[in-house]
Amino acid sequence: MKVITKNEQQTIKLGEKFGQTLKGGEVVLLVGDLGAGKTTFVKGVAKALGVKRVVNSPTFVLMKIYVIKNKELRITNLIHIDTYRGLDIGDLKNIGAVEYFKRKDCVSFVEWGESLEDYLKKEKINFKKIVIKNISETKREFNFIE
Ligand code: ADP
Ligand code: MG
Repeated sequence: MKVITKNEQQTIKLGEKFGQTLKGGEVVLLVGDLGAGKTTFVKGVAKALGVKRVVNSPTFVLMKIYVIKNKELRITNLIHIDTYRGLDIGDLKNIGAVEYFKRKDCVSFVEWGESLEDYLKKEKINFKKIVIKNISETKREFNFIE
């Protein structure tokens, strides 16, 4: 499924809609250049899950864990990872990220996540992929791949 957003707010809305479909246990790889809107999309997801804290790029901290207080959801944590600074699967294991991928009460979003594809397939960890393309200054195409 492909969706085009025309500004930042529409991307947040799209993330919010996607966030509302989460059941727990999802691992989502976000693929797209710098400035594509990966972090913006996760802001929307966080909003849907009821995260009150400001979500910004985890580039310099590797992984951020947001606690979900919504009792109607089975999701206890939103995991936000950015591998931009060259994190490989060994590094992700080191910081305990892979354990979160396997948990049914967590949802994980990985920016620049394409580098994990082979590993996740090998380990039989299900994942979804969202490929984001910059069409123009403010237009972005989101391609949802199961
Ligand atoms: P990434 O995490 O992919 O590097 P960010 O979400 O941090 O990207 O930043 C996206 C940038 O692009 C922001 O500065 C935002 O204002 C801008 N922008 C312009 N149009 C859009 C859009 N349609 N969707 C998302 N961001 C957009
Ligand atoms: Mg980002």
